[in-house]
Amino acid sequence: PSGYAYARADNPNRQSLEQLLAELERGEAAASFSSGQAATTTVLQSLRPGDHVLAPLEMYWGTASALKDVMAGWGVEASFVDMTEIASVRAALRPSTRLIWLETPSNPRLRITDIRAVVEIARSAGCITACDNTCPTPILQRPLDLGVDLAIHSATKYLGGHSDVLGGAVAARSRQGIFERIRMLQANCGAVPSPFDCWLLQRSIATLPVRIRAQSESAMRMANYLSGHPRVKAVHYPGLPAHPGHDIARRQMAGFGALLSFELGSRQEAIEAAARVKLFTRATSLGAVESLIEHRASVEPPDTPTPQELLRVSVGLEHVDDLLEDLEQAIS
Ligand SMILES: *Cc1c(COP(=O)(O)O)cnc(C)c1O
Repeated sequence: PSGYAYARADNPNRQSLEQLLAELERGEAAASFSSGQAATTTVLQSLRPGDHVLAPLEMYWGTASALKDVMAGWGVEASFVDMTEIASVRAALRPSTRLIWLETPSNPRLRITDIRAVVEIARSAGCITACDNTCPTPILQRPLDLGVDLAIHSATKYLGGHSDVLGGAVAARSRQGIFERIRMLQANCGAVPSPFDCWLLQRSIATLPVRIRAQSESAMRMANYLSGHPRVKAVHYPGLPAHPGHDIARRQMAGFGALLSFELGSRQEAIEAAARVKLFTRATSLGAVESLIEHRASVEPPDTPTPQELLRVSVGLEHVDDLLEDLEQAIS
């Protein structure tokens, strides 16, 4: 009588979380998953053999791997282009292109793609768009409002916010079309979150806007500090006016986020600096209340385009003065 027959197909905790996610992203519906990768691969599984996917050159390595190492074997082709260049997106379209995947700001150099411009190209080519919105979160960027069809999340990151839960989500502009297949795959392939994880995520999302605002403010201060540091060769943060995507970021985002990366003189210098931090935790992942630093190329495959001298920082909720002091002793 309640409408719930079996927990994999649907359950009250999951429905409550999905309603919240849909409202946050201003979509008609959302589907939640056991991880970000489960959300991503479910979207890719909704395609058919012969379909072509256009993806950015710089993106979360796991998404690139899902395309190259998993989907290619099922006849879904992918090509990778520099999405900061709109002309190269148009040039890479094929008659079989069914999906354009965006990630902005991108991992790990925070490159900015003009979401509206890509949506326009996709619509004229009759294909759908999906945007990995993990890093900005719906607090700072709402892809569906900009015309994107699907917003994708690793809820493991900012939505969870406390490094204690894995999760993923797909929010959809329309509950019809591609989302119907995603819903079917969610129930039948079974990469679903447990009811307890749904509950944990709802608890976390209650503090999301406050965390994002505080963490972004600290990240802006950190980017300015690093920009003036003599040992730092480059800082990647869209809040800096010198960042090539700054103007587009200002147009499509409500803030610049809490993720940044910077480059030191060499791979060795970067690894040594990461080893000297005391307050930061040296670990992968991002988006939690504790600040993390990592030598990104070390966790990506050997053919990664990520520079060897790059460190990625996820800014947490510690006092920013303490974080800057820790970075100063580590770098200098
Ligand atoms: C972590 C991450 C993912 C994958 O999410 P998991 O929850 O680890 O499976 C996808 N996209 C981005 C941008 C991420 O940071």
